[in-house]
Amino acid sequence: MKAEVLVLGAGPGGYTAAFRAADLGKKVVLVERYDSLGGVCLNVGCIPSKALLHTAQIINEAAHMAANGVSFGKPKIDLKGVNGFKSRIVTKLTGGLKQLAKQRKVEVVTGVGKFIDQNNLAVVNDGKETGIEFEHCVIAAGSQATEIPSFPNDDERLLDSTSALDLTDIPKKLLIVGGGIIGLEMATVYDALGSEITVVEFMDSLIPGCDKDLIRPLSKIISKRYKAILLKTKVIEIKPQKSGLKVSFEGDKAPEPEVFDKVLVAVGRRPNGLKIGADKAGIKVDEAGFIEVDKQMRTNVANIFAVGDIVGEPMLAHKATHEAKVAAEVIAGMKSWFEPRAIPSVAYTDPEVAWMGLSESEAKSQGIAYVKGAFPWAASGRALGLGRDEGLTKVLFDKESKRILGAGIVGPNAGELIAEAVLALEMGADAEDIGLTIHAHPTLSETFNFAAEMAEGTITDLFIPKK
Ligand code: NAD
Repeated sequence: MKAEVLVLGAGPGGYTAAFRAADLGKKVVLVERYDSLGGVCLNVGCIPSKALLHTAQIINEAAHMAANGVSFGKPKIDLKGVNGFKSRIVTKLTGGLKQLAKQRKVEVVTGVGKFIDQNNLAVVNDGKETGIEFEHCVIAAGSQATEIPSFPNDDERLLDSTSALDLTDIPKKLLIVGGGIIGLEMATVYDALGSEITVVEFMDSLIPGCDKDLIRPLSKIISKRYKAILLKTKVIEIKPQKSGLKVSFEGDKAPEPEVFDKVLVAVGRRPNGLKIGADKAGIKVDEAGFIEVDKQMRTNVANIFAVGDIVGEPMLAHKATHEAKVAAEVIAGMKSWFEPRAIPSVAYTDPEVAWMGLSESEAKSQGIAYVKGAFPWAASGRALGLGRDEGLTKVLFDKESKRILGAGIVGPNAGELIAEAVLALEMGADAEDIGLTIHAHPTLSETFNFAAEMAEGTITDLFIPKK
């Protein structure tokens, strides 16, 4: 086979690169090891987890209403139905991708791809090998969950982010190793379904990359709901027993060994750069498996590009899709660059936590002078109308120019609300621009407006005593 553009991997980075290149007139071949397109994100990541998180949200909100005059009773959970809702969405989206590939005449080849040299890739499927000669290539082969080698590797009670999405039963006692985004999102799901949750995290905070004041409202709520959140603690051993998995901990406040019905390991992801025969094509891959690229997504080999998790953090689908467009456009001769001013991060927990741009802890450690506007949702009529008052919207501005540098939001829908802050940063908005932008009342989006007014000193919805 021959391709003008060969794309390796059909996750959000890969299918976007393939579709954009095809739209720019290239003959594209898309290689994917699984039958279904969409990669981790669509099949076993972002999308199915959001279907389960929606289910969790309904359960939690229904329970919450009991305090406000409406009781629904204990939910009856039919796991087949819950899994079915999730699977139907995945099937619809992956089927949609197949259709989109067909409409663009992108040829999909199923099998595991490995480089032979800088212009050839071999695809192996069921022992059968297909050779593909390409002019340009975009590597979008993603990442995989990090495993802890000393943990048992063939016990189905030990879950990873993929098997955790397949709800075979509701474990009575669930331990989550890793208090990052995956761990806490899955904790949200299993807690709503009725599991007793323990989270173990070896750093001193949940979601360590995020400012602590944004994590605090989430921590406060879940530490009441969950059995335990063990910070600065490590799991040192997991012993399979008939009654469950016996887990031993290490740390200043480590508890005694305990038996759990299931354990989910969510301690990060590692790139797949060392698995694609990159050396045969002369592509530089570091020890961790990351491929180095320039701002046009080009590797050290001029006709080979790489995008997504495999080129570095943050490992997020929305970073991959934007990088993918740049790679496809550069291949088609356009002068595109990947230089975003911010990439938002969202934990779809309850409450959600979202942040973008410069964080306050980064500003402090880098000695960047800033002005902060922080608006507590306890003063937002809309938040109170949702029965929620724990949220916070925080915006950082440059001390001199008053331009926005970063923002963080915690509260229901924070993941949607952060988009406005990213747009403000990309557009170079300052505190006055945001403060003077009329936001509909009553909305949660107003809290972004109010945070800017806090920084400006023009807020009227709160009283700030004069210094
Ligand atoms: P993560 O890096 O977000 O979190 C892993 C956590 O595990 C960290 O807090 C780390 O300190 C902790 N940890 C590591 N080793 C440990 C150990 N031995 N014991 C206890 N704690 C340990 O990784 P993740 O949650 O696995 O997610 C993987 C990737 O997928 C991330 O890059 C994330 O951005 C991405 N992802 C994003 C979303 C989203 O955008 N909503 C959702 C899921 C995953």
